[in-house]
Amino acid sequence: MVVGVLALQGSFNEHIAVLKRLGVKGVEVRKPEQLLNVSSLIIPGGESTTMAKLAELHNLFPALREFVQMGKPVWGTCAGLIFLANKATGQKTGGQKLIGGLDCTVHRNFFGSQIQSFETQLPIPQVVAEGGPPSFRAVFIRAPAILDVGPDVEVLADIPLSAIETIDSNPAIQKEEDSTESGKKVIVAVKQGNLLATAFHPELTADTRWHSYFLKMVPEIEEGTSDIVSTSTSN
Ligand code: GLN
Repeated sequence: MVVGVLALQGSFNEHIAVLKRLGVKGVEVRKPEQLLNVSSLIIPGGESTTMAKLAELHNLFPALREFVQMGKPVWGTCAGLIFLANKATGQKTGGQKLIGGLDCTVHRNFFGSQIQSFETQLPIPQVVAEGGPPSFRAVFIRAPAILDVGPDVEVLADIPLSAIETIDSNPAIQKEEDSTESGKKVIVAVKQGNLLATAFHPELTADTRWHSYFLKMVPEIEEGTSDIVSTSTSN
């Protein structure tokens, strides 16, 4: 079995390239029937409203929802996280269609506009770090953040708002910070059963540990029945 990468829009090529570096075959998914031939799915970053419109056009929503409900591993990065969330808030979310399944509320453009994109050294849990450094250089591009999660959602990474240099120049963040009870931190990586979601873009860095972590969620790959060549984790 191979890993599918939703290839409607966004950074799908970059995900496929990382999978290849890990010895795993990634294939582009654009049609509902292509989901039958993949063990798992990565939904890349990009622009979630555009992605939703294209998914509608290709009649992908029923098949994507079924894929999630069947318990197949699905990883959403950035726009992919928004697409997987049960609820999205923030700019221009009115009527935006989501796959859903991930029990959380996501703010679409929490960290501001394109110009307020940033990179930060994000603390990561042991399961992701795998003996490597306990942090990950995370790239946030017009990124969302998770505002609240349901009881079955495990938080893998969060970020103190004080770590973001653009915060002072971003009224949206200031406003959000004031209105959240927890105050200073927002969630940027979660796992809920078969679903993994990150607000940042691991496919844009050389560190493959988030991809390796996701591949461990794919039983076919764990059992060695896939096209996998090696699962080495390089940084
Ligand atoms: N905020 C964007 C959206 O709403 C996502 C940005 C990204 O994927 N880099 O789709």
